[in-house]
Amino acid sequence: MAELAQVVVDVPTMQTNQPYTYEVPPQLAHQLQVGMRVAVPFGNGHRQVQGFVVGFTDHADYQGELKPIGAVMDVQPVVNTELLKLSSWLADTTYSFWISCLYTMLPNMLKSKAERVVRLVDEVDEQTLFDLFGGKDECELSQFQDDPAKMSQLLKLKREKRVVIDYRLTNRARAKTVTGITPLLTFEQLEDARTSLHPNAHAQSRLLSYLQSIVGKKVKQTTAEHVAQLKAGTFNQGAKKGWLKKVPIEVYRNPYEQPVADDHLETPLHLNRDQQAAVRRINQAVEDQSAQTFLLQGVTGSGKTEVYLQTIAKALAMGRTALMLVPEISLTPQIVNRVRRRFGSQVAVLHSGLSNGEQYDEWRRIERGQAKVVVGARSAVFAPLQNLGIIIMDEEHETSYKQDDAPRYHAREVAKWRSHYHQAPLILGSATPSLESRARALKGVYQLLRLPHRVNQQPLPPIKVVDMRPEIKRRGESNFSLPLLQALDLRLQRREQSILMLNRRGFSSFMMCRDCGAVLKCPNCDISLTLHMDTRTMKCHYCGHEEPIPQVCPNCHSRHIRYYGTGTEKVEQELNRLLPQARIIRMDVDTTRRKGMHEKLLRQFGQQQADILLGTQMIAKGLDFPNVTLVGVLNADTGLGLPDFRASEHTFDLLSQVSGRAGRANKQGQVIIQTFNPDHYAIKDTQTHDYERFFRQEMNLRHQAGYPPYYYTVRLMASHPEEAAAARAMAHIRQELAAKLTPSTIVLGPTPRAIARMKRRYYYQIVIKYKQDPHLHPALQQILQETQAKGFKDVQVSIDPDPQYFM
Ligand code: ADP
Ligand code: ZN
Ligand code: ZN
Repeated sequence: MAELAQVVVDVPTMQTNQPYTYEVPPQLAHQLQVGMRVAVPFGNGHRQVQGFVVGFTDHADYQGELKPIGAVMDVQPVVNTELLKLSSWLADTTYSFWISCLYTMLPNMLKSKAERVVRLVDEVDEQTLFDLFGGKDECELSQFQDDPAKMSQLLKLKREKRVVIDYRLTNRARAKTVTGITPLLTFEQLEDARTSLHPNAHAQSRLLSYLQSIVGKKVKQTTAEHVAQLKAGTFNQGAKKGWLKKVPIEVYRNPYEQPVADDHLETPLHLNRDQQAAVRRINQAVEDQSAQTFLLQGVTGSGKTEVYLQTIAKALAMGRTALMLVPEISLTPQIVNRVRRRFGSQVAVLHSGLSNGEQYDEWRRIERGQAKVVVGARSAVFAPLQNLGIIIMDEEHETSYKQDDAPRYHAREVAKWRSHYHQAPLILGSATPSLESRARALKGVYQLLRLPHRVNQQPLPPIKVVDMRPEIKRRGESNFSLPLLQALDLRLQRREQSILMLNRRGFSSFMMCRDCGAVLKCPNCDISLTLHMDTRTMKCHYCGHEEPIPQVCPNCHSRHIRYYGTGTEKVEQELNRLLPQARIIRMDVDTTRRKGMHEKLLRQFGQQQADILLGTQMIAKGLDFPNVTLVGVLNADTGLGLPDFRASEHTFDLLSQVSGRAGRANKQGQVIIQTFNPDHYAIKDTQTHDYERFFRQEMNLRHQAGYPPYYYTVRLMASHPEEAAAARAMAHIRQELAAKLTPSTIVLGPTPRAIARMKRRYYYQIVIKYKQDPHLHPALQQILQETQAKGFKDVQVSIDPDPQYFM
């Protein structure tokens, strides 16, 4: 039995991926396992930090005296063998720290909070003991914080070394419980109590009979009240008389708005020929336990989801589990309900809209093997499913699959890792695959499966492109061209519905002075503040800074200030004026911020309580409403001008996706795209539904410019409150890299980032482009470790492999 444990510790300022060695005290030896969380002392003080046990050993390289583990925080491991391996791989390939990878994989509730506590270590007089500590010898520091008099007394005691201030870890992971009841007497004793009751005591008599039916069991009180038709008061009387006692019963928090009936599950649809062919190939791979990657390329409405559902069913039939990833913004109740109607209560969902408690409970249902199908957004790729039989990634081209903060992982790469670990196929689905994936399919690295036709046999909706330049000349500033207005009007007459999208990529409503041209900017970041009408404030989307809407220009004091940019609110106002009879539902970050609003608005639209659904990109994906026959895009090109090599690809994807919302049932659909760049190839290829042509043209451009998928890229960023320091650090790193890398590798920069200042820090970056460079990975690992050292004081360096943006 090894008596030393290796622990990855949570110390934010000085990170290292090397586990620390701790002694295992004998009383903990029998319960401690790899994958459990522990509290361990760290540094010189009494500070306790959280750590994860990643292994045991019988000898330490460390020469000094080893410290003992303070406490074990779990009764069973929270990270299993697979996920532990995965976390270490993730840290290595995303140039991040092991501890942050472990946290990324776990629900928030498993991240313990350090509280500062005051502990008496010497005698104090009784008065002080009661005044300051309420008679106990330990209390939280926060109690002193708003009482200066108490605080100064405390500091005096501290100087006299009568108290110490410690960190204590508190475990936030709590199961939810409800009140339950359980009988305290035997069946016969309950019978005796009942026969000796006063004849009028009907309620108590009913309670006793009910208790007789649940001897030896625990029942939720609400259930008991309902079944026995009794009031809460009767149960309280029963408890007083010693017939029953109240007990906590663990329940799962329920994130679903609709219940699901396991005995009335929906039957699979009869597949068409293309779907059959795809399902057959995938199911064969499930059966063979073959870790192949399939690219399922199917136009919108071609029935990809049905393919997912039937291959998931196959995995379940083989006694295995299934993981289905969807982008956060298309994780609508529609898709979740479709999966739940098919697979019932064995489905769990994981996404950012859940409360911490709901998230923790769904996670435990999965971990305990009670949920066998997981539907979730990016981080659900870490769901602790065992025995995975299939992994599905819908809309695989979506950039939200890449995490913006450390660890900067792409869910697709993690999914591939797990696919190999479990010997399970991975299905990447999309109507507009990423160039990377489509190029791999061309090379035969992925298996290409195609669904070229819509299920309903309808052609893809015809797309009309409206050039806004002459429209504006003719009719003045407006968000609506004449053809779009007429089309909307026609839908109102026919009682059909329309979806209108305002493309807000790289775009916001900002304040500008018409006299001096000054734009209201965030004092912390080099970026304009966005107008929010609901709170009547100007907000910074990067740091959260908020200030009132100005009445005069802060620069020249002119009163001629106005806001620019077309917000959804402004469009809604114009629409109300142009089509007063139309009922409109607006969906954007403002109207969906409250929990459940997203679902509510979509349900209202589905029930035809509105004629027009007006929204931002969040309405482009996943929606399947049969009565929608018109889709309008108000401004197709706001994203085209961004300094981003994927700008055209993103525009093409978005326009194709949103066009796919029209004409999904048996009514013919129509799409109208308004643009100032009608000749741009991304717009033209959208109009002809020609992914192949777009792919070829874009691949050509990427080839000429040396961008992915022809090159791999890495971005390094350094930030510092002083611009010169950030620039210096990046120049230093560049020099270091240049000496090590293969000559064919290209290093660009250092340059200031497009948004050079954020949260009071200046940013500089370099971009590395390479095809194959064995020296790169070790060089980057070394930089990562070095930046933790003293010489890099206050400089924060991050490494972003395969960045989605260069801005
Ligand atoms: P996609 O995910 O490719 O956009 P969906 O899976 O949402 O397409 O399918 C579009 C519509 O067609 C859905 O309403 C779905 O229920 C229906 N559908 C899919 N496959 C079939 C089928 N084989 N037979 C009948 N209807 C189908
Ligand atoms: Zn001004
Ligand atoms: Zn800011």
